[in-house]
Amino acid sequence: MLPKPSKVSRVITVLSGGVGAARLLGALSMVMEPSEITAVVNVGDDLVLHGLTICPDLDTITYTLAGLNNDKLSWGLRGESWRVMDALEDLGGEAWFRLGDRDLATHLYRTQRLAEGATKSDVARELCEHWGVAVRLLPVTNDEVATMFDTEVGRLSFQEYFVRHRHGIEVSAISFDGAERAVAAPEVLDALRTCSRIVIAPSNPLISIEPILQVPGIRAILEDRHADVVAVSPIIAGAAVKGPADRLLAELGHDVSCVGVAHYYRGLIGTLVIDQADAELATAVRERGINVHVTTTIMSSPENARRLGEAVLS
Ligand code: GDP
Repeated sequence: MLPKPSKVSRVITVLSGGVGAARLLGALSMVMEPSEITAVVNVGDDLVLHGLTICPDLDTITYTLAGLNNDKLSWGLRGESWRVMDALEDLGGEAWFRLGDRDLATHLYRTQRLAEGATKSDVARELCEHWGVAVRLLPVTNDEVATMFDTEVGRLSFQEYFVRHRHGIEVSAISFDGAERAVAAPEVLDALRTCSRIVIAPSNPLISIEPILQVPGIRAILEDRHADVVAVSPIIAGAAVKGPADRLLAELGHDVSCVGVAHYYRGLIGTLVIDQADAELATAVRERGINVHVTTTIMSSPENARRLGEAVLS
């Protein structure tokens, strides 16, 4: 008898933000062939700073899957040094968005390639090849989409809200400049149409997943295939694991729970994976016509990550 394969063979596509998505993609890579995973990645956080094009979600995923991520900061590269930023700060330059010395090389490389006529998709592929990342990373679009916040101190770009104000100010509305005119990047729509399962990572629904859904064509595919769509709740016991998802959901009038997440994704998903801590909310999610899988969803150890990966594929 042939030995049982340790990894299932199935092609899946994962709608991805940054950290939560990077962890889930790592978890899935433990239970299936990484080369059969495609991530469609948010670009609403992208920015141009010091003349450099920076793609935080793409880079977080690439660094994490390459095993190069800085766990302590949860962004950037491990073993990083900060000589350029320190020197820039000394000059009185714009140093609020910290870019490590080695991380800067990524942004220099991307910016040079874009100037030569390459696309963000090309650069994502080249960086993955360089670091041996087998998961296929596709920026959702090569056009500009900018997530913007109406706040108590005025209209802010993503990084002004997130980094400069440390997401500590009140938000009254979120919008996605450029999204309606954006064209999905090559292979994105095809990946979503032809994969056996679509997964929505435990990323922030409002600012990581929504800018992906806003790119024309994407929401319609999920509506069409909602029975094949599985989301993992980023909200556990009424709180986000990290970042402002809980605060933003509350400020914008959503229920801060996995039921709120189910409601937000209504019509788009067939199954929601929720945490054991929320087991008593399973019925409320099912009442919305959504299947529920209850498991440990915090990917704090390789065992938990593997279990979540298996749950998503089951
Ligand atoms: P960002 O762009 O780096 O902020 O990344 P994401 O939007 O992908 O990640 C932020 C979201 O991921 C937050 O809402 C967290 O609650 C969620 N998250 C992070 N790690 C985990 C985890 O291990 N399990 C679950 N369920 N959610 C997580």
